[in-house]
Amino acid sequence: MRRRLIAGNWKMNGTVPEAISLVQRLKLLVSDVQDRDIAVCPPFTLLDTVSKMIIDTRIYLGAQDMFWEEKGAFTGEISPLMLKEFNCTFVILGHSERRWIIGETDEFIAKKVESAIRNGLTPILCVGERLEDREAGKTKDVVISQLEGSLSLVKDPESIVIAYEPVWAIGTGKPAYPKDAVDVISMIREWYGSRFGKDKAEGVRILYGGSVTPSNIDDFMKESEIDGALVGGASLNADSFARIVKYLL
Ligand code: PEP
Repeated sequence: MRRRLIAGNWKMNGTVPEAISLVQRLKLLVSDVQDRDIAVCPPFTLLDTVSKMIIDTRIYLGAQDMFWEEKGAFTGEISPLMLKEFNCTFVILGHSERRWIIGETDEFIAKKVESAIRNGLTPILCVGERLEDREAGKTKDVVISQLEGSLSLVKDPESIVIAYEPVWAIGTGKPAYPKDAVDVISMIREWYGSRFGKDKAEGVRILYGGSVTPSNIDDFMKESEIDGALVGGASLNADSFARIVKYLL
């Protein structure tokens, strides 16, 4: 059985006082949750604050990106060792906002994924098609090409999480239909099996992300193929994120 993971991606949001009040309330609201994993991924500037606040909880910490080198002349970048200093467990890599706004390529993402795993971090690798890809019937080709590119340097995937995030569903209030998400997620698992073996494919957690809210999470989680959710906007409010964490089956 794969353990489900609900991860909140705060994106470029939050001041220190805002993070403190969000995490204080979240801790209270999810203190009784035991059968699923919870992670919050604040911006780098809040990792220290949040890390200290969740030390005595079951909430994991994640970052939203990292560079592949451990240290050196890479102005503006953050290394895996720096993330580990704040007890990060996860790191989101290849988010569509980095792919399409900042211009990150699969080649870049592949180096980051390899480095994250080598340094003991669990990448949450994001893949997903744009609206024009879907309309042109290219969803599966695009997703497979992102997987092949982003995982090209991984030999033995000790720990990795994949998030299927259709770009057209992110931040738009228009989530995918759960059955359509299941179609793509099943295809991702099949591809993963052909690349890394059946056992690894059975174990890898594949999340859905894109306009997940308290009112649609239950429908996604009723699908046994979907191993959790990567949540953007709705993770910025403790009550709505806690309701998502406490999805009902
Ligand atoms: C995301 O940023 O990964 C995301 C899924 O955002 P939202 O939930 O706001 O669509």
